[in-house]
Amino acid sequence: MNGLNSKNLFEKAKKLIPGGVNSPVRAFSPYPFFTSHAIGSKLYDVDDNFYIDYCLAYGPLILGHAHPKVMASVQNQLSKGVIYGTPTELEVKMAETITKLYKSMDMTRLVNSGTEATMHAIRAARGYTKRDKIIKFEGCYHGAHDYVLVKAGSGATTFGAPNSLGIPSDTTKNTIVLPYNNIDLLTDEIKNNKDEIAAVIIEPVIGNAGLILPEKDYLHNIRKITEEEGIILIFDEVITGFRIGLGGAQEFYGISPDLTTLGKIMGGGLPLACYGGKKEIMNNISPIGKIYQASTLSGNPISVIAGLTTINILIDGERIIYDKLKENCSKLVNGLKDLIEDKGISAQVNSIASMYQIFMNKEPIIDYTGAQQCDKKKFYEYQIELLNNNVFIPPSQFETCFLSTSHSGDDIQSTLKAIDIALNRIK
Ligand code: PMP
Repeated sequence: MNGLNSKNLFEKAKKLIPGGVNSPVRAFSPYPFFTSHAIGSKLYDVDDNFYIDYCLAYGPLILGHAHPKVMASVQNQLSKGVIYGTPTELEVKMAETITKLYKSMDMTRLVNSGTEATMHAIRAARGYTKRDKIIKFEGCYHGAHDYVLVKAGSGATTFGAPNSLGIPSDTTKNTIVLPYNNIDLLTDEIKNNKDEIAAVIIEPVIGNAGLILPEKDYLHNIRKITEEEGIILIFDEVITGFRIGLGGAQEFYGISPDLTTLGKIMGGGLPLACYGGKKEIMNNISPIGKIYQASTLSGNPISVIAGLTTINILIDGERIIYDKLKENCSKLVNGLKDLIEDKGISAQVNSIASMYQIFMNKEPIIDYTGAQQCDKKKFYEYQIELLNNNVFIPPSQFETCFLSTSHSGDDIQSTLKAIDIALNRIK
């Protein structure tokens, strides 16, 4: 595959932008392809190659690239202005839509990114409980802010910095990190820190250490113990919101967290996220309360209209859309599992709804330790061979693959052919 233009752009970018990219996960060796445009299930690069895309910008694009209705809604809004510094009706509609779909959220505040959403949800939990400590889980990624960059997944793990430099130890001394899927250790830690824990924050399904599912009753048991101890349970559904179903993981598993963070899909591919939950907590946010949070661009009408249009399409087609996404994902995952078995390769596949990941490990993956023990070199060779055969997956063992409504049966067949070739390479 010709990649000369991408290669040259990467050389230039590296001199101007750290690592040549504006978010670490986009970098991979020898050089990432530079995208010129994208439509439906496909990305096109500056060397005229195309790729069936299972990264989908790390999750937001559940309707695929450049969905005509989403694009039209943005274009229509552009002619009316992009930001006002005053409230808009669109923001009220968005809050109404979210609180209807997420029964645990009485109120919500719009922000610009998942990072902001989790940072402010944690601040709200601390302000409300008047406690400082929080508990997070190994391999969960909640954005790039100081409270949570401890044993964080995603790019932080891919590039060997799960605990970032530059974060004061005074900040992270209040962040307790525990293994996922281990209720006993969580119970012990909560007992050892009686009346000191403000919040437990969790990706109910981990999408940032590969894809890791909660074991039976794990989330219910977390809900039970946090409720008993007056600890705010924060579900970080930045990936799983609108992905596992319209109502996210909380609807799927039947759990009502105190606070929730949403992002990615809710912005339809534009910068938008939110945090929200019980009104007795949210009513403490400025200007009505003393927990401060603000942002110049939050709730801008361009992001909000893109998000609302996306969510409304999902609402209109709910059963059909989510069933079809699941069916396509199952076809791909079953095909992948058959190929792994036929070739006698040591690999596992985890999947749920329209998310899946292959793990280069012979043992089932239930936590971050397991994910870290995977053969990363094999994963890299697999990913590069897929790329050579026109399939783009997130270039890391510590991410998740996504499907969109624009992936066709033909896309899946072509992808399985590419997977066949890629698995032969790592046999
Ligand atoms: N939470 C989760 C679960 C995420 O997956 C991410 C991003 N991948 C974030 C928070 C941070 O979101 P953002 O990149 O929009 O800041």
